[in-house]
Amino acid sequence: MNTFNPVVEKLRESGIQPTHQRIIILDYIMKQEGHPTADEINRVLQKESPALSKATVYNTLKLFTQKGLIHMIATNQDENRYEIADHPHGHFICSKCSHIYDIELKPDSVISDDLSGFTVEDTQLLIKGICPKCSPDNK
Ligand SMILES: [Zn+2]
Ligand SMILES: [Zn+2]
Repeated sequence: MNTFNPVVEKLRESGIQPTHQRIIILDYIMKQEGHPTADEINRVLQKESPALSKATVYNTLKLFTQKGLIHMIATNQDENRYEIADHPHGHFICSKCSHIYDIELKPDSVISDDLSGFTVEDTQLLIKGICPKCSPDNK
């Protein structure tokens, strides 16, 4: 066996063939603390790996999202944003600075009794408003 690589391991666990390009893309997303757009991911990775095409990056993000490895956050602002799906949490997006904050959720806090009989595949909580930094009370 090769030395343990958590990125390769994660891909295998999700039933994804760990190709070189997929490893590069997942490794990058796993190291992010923010919520990069597909375009940001593409720009950074193409600098490091010029052989990587934009189509490959976009298709890989789609595949990772389908397999539940990463989360797509539909902000309705500009582009969709991505992050590693390591723990469920909600998001607060500031309408002034566009910063996205991670919001911890209580277990099952967005699951309602109305969902009995439905199979939940993904839950997203997106709150919009003004963050404390942009709040007029802070100035
Ligand atoms: Zn703000
Ligand atoms: Zn997040």
